[in-house]
Amino acid sequence: MEIDKIRHILCVSGGKDSAALAIYMRDRVPQMEYVFCDTEKELPETYDYLARLEGVLGRPILTLRDGRGFDHWLNIFRGYLPSSQMRWCTRHLKLEPFERYVGDSSVISYVGIRADEDREGYISTKPNIKPVFPFKEAGLCYTDVVRILEESGIGLPQYRTWRSRSGCYFCFFQQKIEWVGLLEHHPDLFELASQYEKVDNATGRRFTWCDNESLEELSRSERIEAIKAEYARRTERQIPTDRRLAEIFEDDSWERPCLVCTL
Ligand code: SF4
Repeated sequence: MEIDKIRHILCVSGGKDSAALAIYMRDRVPQMEYVFCDTEKELPETYDYLARLEGVLGRPILTLRDGRGFDHWLNIFRGYLPSSQMRWCTRHLKLEPFERYVGDSSVISYVGIRADEDREGYISTKPNIKPVFPFKEAGLCYTDVVRILEESGIGLPQYRTWRSRSGCYFCFFQQKIEWVGLLEHHPDLFELASQYEKVDNATGRRFTWCDNESLEELSRSERIEAIKAEYARRTERQIPTDRRLAEIFEDDSWERPCLVCTL
């Protein structure tokens, strides 16, 4: 890479780690370009958080969109909802807009993976994009991220009281308790998510967000009670709420979602 032509890009997701990284890098790399890949299916809290983050950074966060949107791609994939096995949403709504924005430029892409995580970030196969991991390099962990956010005044994203990650409101990676959270905090979005679920009358095949039940089934009072009871059982240990969410959701679930969606 020719040093003087290198662009520095930090893709924020609306999640805590990329927000903290943006703040951490603000004065270290003043020429940083901040971008957000918007699926247009994000939580309202995410958009609010990004607006506040812009205020803290004193810099604009450029919104990148696919231009066609989720419903277009759902149609192309003949109604098959995305899943962990067929994650077309990430490619078309997150990664491609980012790669189009980068173009052929030589880019250093800043990724907010922490030192206490073992997962990998989005590593572009494009040779002109070089990922770097400043938190890993500096040994910064979960508590450092929380501290950076608190000291900046922005704090954690508001959805953290009921959901662990940013991303689409209907993200199939979310846990049952988070679907319950969506129902309780955004019944309109829960209803929209439910409307995407279909039954093929010819084959009986169900297209649902969760493997084993529809959102209509999940929203029945006895299921909500059972899901809450299971959640309470898993969170018996007395640890602070946000840490509890982090432990439960980050350690053993969401099946390593795309970091570009959720960091
Ligand atoms: S947040 Fe979930 S549904 Fe949205 S693009 Fe990422 S993986 Fe797909």
